[in-house]
Amino acid sequence: MILSAVPTNVVIQLADIHKTYHTGEVDVHAVRGVSLDIAPGEFVAIMGSSGSGKSTLMNMIGCLDRPTSGSYFLDGIDVSTLDREQRAKIRNDKIGFVFQGFNLLSRTTAQENVEMPMLYNRHRVPAHEQSTRAIRSLELVGLADRADHKPNQLSGGQQQRVAIARALVNQPSLLLADEPTGNLDSQTSIEIMGVFQKLNDAGITIVMVTHELDVARYTKRMIILRDGKILTDERVSARSNAEEELKKLRRAQEAVKLA
Ligand code: ADP
Ligand code: MG
Repeated sequence: MILSAVPTNVVIQLADIHKTYHTGEVDVHAVRGVSLDIAPGEFVAIMGSSGSGKSTLMNMIGCLDRPTSGSYFLDGIDVSTLDREQRAKIRNDKIGFVFQGFNLLSRTTAQENVEMPMLYNRHRVPAHEQSTRAIRSLELVGLADRADHKPNQLSGGQQQRVAIARALVNQPSLLLADEPTGNLDSQTSIEIMGVFQKLNDAGITIVMVTHELDVARYTKRMIILRDGKILTDERVSARSNAEEELKKLRRAQEAVKLA
């Protein structure tokens, strides 16, 4: 496989991306000419109503699917023409995924869940280093003290933290999250956005799909899709700070108790 990386200061470079699904009689033009650059250190929310093409675009960014036309460079590598196996390698090397439903293995401890992506890492991390890296990843999301717990012994927010730790363990260039707070209550959602903000402050590039404007306000850049095209692409002004919002919430909860 020839993968010539061109040095670049963009993580994601999409040029005139189209995706057409051919199912039955009609063609569905799910993505219609999206061009987009995302630089290292960005924190991007992709928004838009149901059917606007968010998942289709995310699947292509995540190298799970291939565009019908257009070019996609990830870390300077042209990934739009790669076959299934080559895409799997790129995913394992460069992308960490976080899903709405956490997708943890239920009979397996938090630490073992986090170690999982290293089993497929072609750079073969030695066993002792696997556990060190898993614990370090759990520390990043504030959950090192729960390393021995199984998913059913953890809250939803804690399970999502484990999933984030797992996404980080191969040191990806990019963290992709599809509705990561979709299954969480509002306070836990803020806590998870706090984890993302901390990781982003440490330099990790994050792209996240969300339906909720409240959640998107924690990112730095908001892209709204409509009918498979970019409708708006703007910096988030008056960005929310998760730590501040949580402090406010706790003060309000204390006030209710005292009243
Ligand atoms: P969103 O995630 O914003 O709700 P999607 O990317 O899932 O939007 O879908 C965009 C359009 O593409 C919709 O019209 C949807 O029905 C269609 N679509 C999505 N996935 C497929 C598929 N695998 N086969 C055929 N059509 C699809
Ligand atoms: Mg979707």
